[in-house]
Amino acid sequence: MIEIKDIVKTYNENTVPVHALNHVNLRIEEGEFTAVVGPSGCGKTTFLNILGGLDTPTSGNILIDGTNLHDRSSADMITYRRDHIGFVFQDYSLMPVLTAKENVEFIMELQGRPKEERAARSKELLEAVGIGDKGDQFPTKLSGGQQQRVAVARALASKPNLILADEPTANLDSKSTADLLDIMRSLNEKENITFVIATHDQRVMDRAKRVITFEDGKIIDMK
Ligand code: ADP
Ligand code: ADP
Repeated sequence: MIEIKDIVKTYNENTVPVHALNHVNLRIEEGEFTAVVGPSGCGKTTFLNILGGLDTPTSGNILIDGTNLHDRSSADMITYRRDHIGFVFQDYSLMPVLTAKENVEFIMELQGRPKEERAARSKELLEAVGIGDKGDQFPTKLSGGQQQRVAVARALASKPNLILADEPTANLDSKSTADLLDIMRSLNEKENITFVIATHDQRVMDRAKRVITFEDGKIIDMK
């Protein structure tokens, strides 16, 4: 279980403080598929970044199975993130000089996995997201929907328990959005991967098991 305890994030503490997160408390059970919603600037990205260990809170704790996420040294944090958390972003953030397959294999290379294992897993993952035939393509040759599928395959490469997605459907048409949501829901159901998705997209909210609404850095609604 993930326990988010009284998280505060204040930017520009010494000049003009911005309270991006203002005493956020939440529990996230394994296997959730949760949408985090609210107007632009309400703190969604800050929340995901802190939950994913990409940024540190000003105060408060995140306990994952009882261990404080932000107590790790920065080197341990990098390894923890790499091995336990997958990230998916609005702009896909693929490496343009690597093929789809190489983008998926990159994390496994950092993990020191053998070549054969990397190749087998990237093939399996690209097939799982429905683009098994695109492994040798560079990102610029792929549509937005296909690039986001590569990004999901990449996020899965290290076998994470948790995937954090920031506006993953913002640049996708309706068909690609529906397909991506089917893929994510199926991973959630079959592999019990927890998803936390920051979004403005009603289509994502409609498929979420739980919707958490932020306003001005606070949770104002949960359903
Ligand atoms: P094990 O089989 O070793 O118990 P699990 O698959 O149960 O492993 O996962 C344990 C891992 O789950 C921990 O490393 C922790 O990072 C992660 N975890 C704990 N709570 C959650 C959650 N709500 N969502 C995703 N991962 C979680
Ligand atoms: P959302 O993702 O919901 O649009 P953000 O988490 O990006 O919200 O932003 C929350 C608030 O924090 C906003 O007021 C934003 O301007 C501010 N903010 C975000 N990042 C920074 C930063 N690096 N420095 C200063 N203020 C920031």
